[in-house]
Amino acid sequence: MKGLQIQGVNQVSVVDLPAEPIGEGMVRVAIHAVGLCGTDFALIEGTLGLNVWPVVPGHEVIGRVTESRSSRFHVGDPVILDPLVSCGTCNACRLGRPQWCEHVGVIGVVRDGGAREEMVLPDSQWVPWPKKLPLEDGVLSEPLHVVETILPLIGSEQPSRILVIGNGALGLMILHVLKHYWPDLDIRTYDVIAERWHRALRIGGKPWNPNDKEPMNVVIDGVGTNSSLKMAASSVGNGGHIIVYGVPKPGNVVPNADLLFRKNVRMSFSRLYTHEFRYPAQWLANDVVTSTDIVSDRLSLDEAAAFLREKRWKSPSRWGKAIITIARNPIQDEGEQQ
Ligand SMILES: [Zn+2]
Ligand SMILES: [Zn+2]
Repeated sequence: MKGLQIQGVNQVSVVDLPAEPIGEGMVRVAIHAVGLCGTDFALIEGTLGLNVWPVVPGHEVIGRVTESRSSRFHVGDPVILDPLVSCGTCNACRLGRPQWCEHVGVIGVVRDGGAREEMVLPDSQWVPWPKKLPLEDGVLSEPLHVVETILPLIGSEQPSRILVIGNGALGLMILHVLKHYWPDLDIRTYDVIAERWHRALRIGGKPWNPNDKEPMNVVIDGVGTNSSLKMAASSVGNGGHIIVYGVPKPGNVVPNADLLFRKNVRMSFSRLYTHEFRYPAQWLANDVVTSTDIVSDRLSLDEAAAFLREKRWKSPSRWGKAIITIARNPIQDEGEQQ
């Protein structure tokens, strides 16, 4: 079986991987598509602080069941990957907070993920995907699961003004969902990459720049660098809330602690999520977000290896999400004719 493998910093290639055995309670899935995101880019640059090499990336995964030893799934079923692995027995797990598990792991980060032709996992790591939805949409379910985890941190009351820093794929999805629930919300957006910023403005965000003085109630920072955290600290108003989901590099510290203290700011970090995918399928079915809004590049495994090796995600003309479309096998074609 062909798969993408990261062997070290900036070392990535397409390799032959052995087929995996299937055991009781497990499900074999032919992978249809895999999304790439900032986590994969940090993984290949070695800045995630969790380098377990070699590893097959891919935590945003959609595919179809080709073999099932579980009563929950049947051959042909479309499924998405739940990449969160939790122990089930630590204090956090017992309290129903697997995202804070003491032994938490993410498939595609610390163990082999979905950027390969097929994958065998226990049935608990697969989530049924509605048959009526396009298979490719499923690739957005994991990032939308991130969105459904971040947005409730704002609270149920509509803020009067919100700033979204970072208009990559996740930033754009956040804008779409915010606009859906709060159509008249005053949203400001900022990105250093013009193409991304234009997309964000088209969704209904207003341009923000670091000289703007209007205080923000909520700042959502999808970048997590020193400069974005400084922007968040200076733009947030008294008693405001900063939500950080961008991955800070190892050793990064939160700047402007004095300013944050004077403004009495609340700061939240959003890293992982629960096992429950509540809204992604619903949002996609109702066109709150569509793959046309978000997916910019469709790559083969070989093209993805080159994309990652050459760091093309850093190109100033890029926007949106790159996905890897894995060659379809006969059972997938059969499933689609149903
Ligand atoms: Zn991701
Ligand atoms: Zn646990």
